[in-house]
Amino acid sequence: MTYVAATDRYESIEYKRVGRSGLKLPAVSLGLWNNFGFDRPIETQRAILRRAFDLGVTHFDLANNYGPPAGSAETNFGRIFADDFRQHRDELIISTKAGYGMWDGPYGEWGSRKSMLASLDQSLERMGLDYVDIFYSHRPDPETPIEETMGALATAVTSGRALYAGISNYDTEQTIAAHKALAEHKIPLLIHQPRFNMFDRHIETEGLLPVLDDLGMGSIVFSPLAQGMLTDRYLAGIPADSRAAEGRWITSENIDETYLERASALNEIAAGRGQSLAQLALSWVLRHPQVTSALIGASSVAQLENNISALESAPLSQEEIAAIEPFAVH
Ligand code: NDP
Repeated sequence: MTYVAATDRYESIEYKRVGRSGLKLPAVSLGLWNNFGFDRPIETQRAILRRAFDLGVTHFDLANNYGPPAGSAETNFGRIFADDFRQHRDELIISTKAGYGMWDGPYGEWGSRKSMLASLDQSLERMGLDYVDIFYSHRPDPETPIEETMGALATAVTSGRALYAGISNYDTEQTIAAHKALAEHKIPLLIHQPRFNMFDRHIETEGLLPVLDDLGMGSIVFSPLAQGMLTDRYLAGIPADSRAAEGRWITSENIDETYLERASALNEIAAGRGQSLAQLALSWVLRHPQVTSALIGASSVAQLENNISALESAPLSQEEIAAIEPFAVH
């Protein structure tokens, strides 16, 4: 059926400015890392993307290697984009990344100019796009000079293949160096995409947040639900259709007694606020002003809706943050 976007789609979700840039992102964005490959029904994917847009989610995050197999999430997204979203292109922020293994040989991964720009051209072709809104270096390359990787991002922007540049998985020092290298090209480094959730607090402990402030950058934090472990998904066992059952990125070993104790305690705190555990986990990452957007995944429309409803709750109080503290540990 032809998709007609909801007319009230901009009425409820909050849009937050990315650092000191002109761009705003929805407080919750949708990532296509899992659940959008050739291994999943395209009609479920379409339903999730349509519902997201109807709820005001204007940002979809991809990477060259998302699938499985690698590349298939971009291909599927391209199909759905052509059918449903082409007329909404100027309402969407679509991102992709290069850096992880994508094709055979020495140019299929990491951060050389050769690899980055070839990968971006492949991504554009798979998605059927003229440009992406944000192009990321997906991980720092210890062997390539940062000036070369950032030079490739600068070319992506000046050649019109990307509007903004971003980095992912860079530590604090690498972030400062990347910002400086890109500034040589008079291109601002818009955004950082690190992992951040109650069970991975490295960006709080390693000093990244004040550096983002200094540099005028925003952040979009990935796996805010710890891949489903900060939801009620595993409180009563491991469902057959879950990521832990699939065992590719998390396994049954992650669902141990220590985990269950913490997740149950957090679930009770969430219930006290009238939230699901997933919603509490999202309120918690969004409490930092430097966190522009929480980048979720969803395998169903119901999960997506549950997550976006987190934005309807009041921010966490100091007392609530203190109550969470003993259970929000690495
Ligand atoms: P999350 O932490 O949000 O985990 C998503 C998973 O949690 C879902 O697939 C689902 O698991 C479960 N889930 C989500 N919502 C609910 C809910 N309300 N109730 C119960 N279960 C729920 O994020 P991801 O790890 O998927 O990462 C999100 C995005 O971040 C990626 O798509 C990608 O765009 C980006 N990312 C970036 C990386 C980088 O290196 N830059 C690395 C990893 C991710 P199930 O599938 O079992 O139903």
